[in-house]
Amino acid sequence: MSNDTLYIDGRWFPSESGQDFPVLDPCDGRVLARVADAAPEDVIGAIRAARKAFPAWAATTAKERGAILHRAAALITERREQLALILSQENGKPIAQARGELGFTADFFTWFAEEGRRAFGATVPTNKPGVRRFTIRQPIGVVAVISPWNLPAAIVARKVAPVLAAGCTCVLKPAEQTPLSAIEIVRILEEAGLPPGVLNLITCQDPAPVGQALLDSPDIARVTFTGSVEVGRHIARECAWRMKRFSLELGGHAPFIVFDDADLERAVDQLMASKFRNSGQTCLCANRVFVQRQVLEPFTRLLVERAGALKLGRGTDPGVAIGPMIDADGFAKVKQHVDDAVARGARCLLGGAPVQVPGCEAGLFFPPTVLTGLDLDSTICHEETFGPVAALLPFDDEAEVLERANRSIYGLSGYAFTRDLGRAFRVAEALECGIIGINEGLTPTAECPFGGVKHSGVGREGGWQGLDECLETKYITFGL
Ligand code: NAD
Repeated sequence: MSNDTLYIDGRWFPSESGQDFPVLDPCDGRVLARVADAAPEDVIGAIRAARKAFPAWAATTAKERGAILHRAAALITERREQLALILSQENGKPIAQARGELGFTADFFTWFAEEGRRAFGATVPTNKPGVRRFTIRQPIGVVAVISPWNLPAAIVARKVAPVLAAGCTCVLKPAEQTPLSAIEIVRILEEAGLPPGVLNLITCQDPAPVGQALLDSPDIARVTFTGSVEVGRHIARECAWRMKRFSLELGGHAPFIVFDDADLERAVDQLMASKFRNSGQTCLCANRVFVQRQVLEPFTRLLVERAGALKLGRGTDPGVAIGPMIDADGFAKVKQHVDDAVARGARCLLGGAPVQVPGCEAGLFFPPTVLTGLDLDSTICHEETFGPVAALLPFDDEAEVLERANRSIYGLSGYAFTRDLGRAFRVAEALECGIIGINEGLTPTAECPFGGVKHSGVGREGGWQGLDECLETKYITFGL
């Protein structure tokens, strides 16, 4: 790949400075590609192009926009294998999970291709003879999309598809660790017939100055971000000051509650998917596994057996279920959480220390880890780990576990396993989270709203709600 990876006004460019940076395979540190390292001057050009393209794109019909998004979904599906390889290499995730992510990616384009046609307004019954009142929904303008490395294709699609479907234009800035999937998606949208300027792509190594240029610009109407609480808070502050709309998805600290009447096999199965998918690097990952004391022993045994069988390695190798941590910072955070828990008396039933994988010596691999006997002041009991570590916490009754589960600054997702229908409803309603799984550990889908409460963020993606975030309601009154 050449370093012409800035896509501005329908053309591919290197950065104005000519600088580029390497994208590394987290398994072995080899350089996969070099991409343009944009500076604020490049961003200004991208914003200008998006602003110029906005009126014509907003004036197209939702059906015309939808046709382009449908074509993009078809191309992603057709090229799934090739895209899965790129995704697995830049992120480290197992190839089967990369394929799954691309199915999810295509789904967002399909869903929003149709959902754009349902951006209905309302006719309001008049309160005055000779006057009529109604509302219309209009695209809000240019949207800045800042996306993370953990789902480098699906999160781009979840953010970009509703923006385009609504008639907004876009400047996309993917994570510096994983820009390659985003580049491929932009190429596909170009091939699908997206007009110049509607979607612009900026790749850069240092996100702060480029991010600031997006936040400073009066031409950006909304910012949608997924990533850390720290950066999310900065974006919220900057947007509030400039009266921009913003949507933030900032991770979680999901409680996963197993009651004594649960189907334990199913609960372990679902925990495996929720906890160890993407090596534990998703915001929906179970982080605190509350197990009712009566079933702690059999549940733990099953979990250790299943987690102990997961194979670590390069995502493209057969049978691999756990890839490397994305980078040294992510790795250090996981290690610190485990070391801190053990120093405070936790017992490590599985894993617990970094491992070397033959052929991937430069990779930062942390094995599936199961901790028990935790001191409740341990960091892992309060902060998101973003790694393959299951912290088991025994509890005695429903009221106690709900109080403990809700004692968190986060509120993205929560899970509960029980066969008691009344309890299932009580727990689903009581958990302070945006997304709940009852007897189910894999919740996200294009049709349903995704987002959290408290420090997990603001706004929703996916579902009809995802489109709503890109639209403004205009009220029109008419004297006859
Ligand atoms: P981050 O918040 O630094 O990065 C996320 C995105 O924001 C990337 O595109 C990055 O380039 C961009 N960014 C960073 N600083 C910016 C700035 N000043 N202005 C504008 N954009 C900026 O997150 P990270 O360092 O990749 O990961 C740190 C932690 O964040 C993780 O351990 C995890 O807890 C959390 N995280 C959560 C999610 C999620 O899905 N909610 C995704 C990634 C990371």
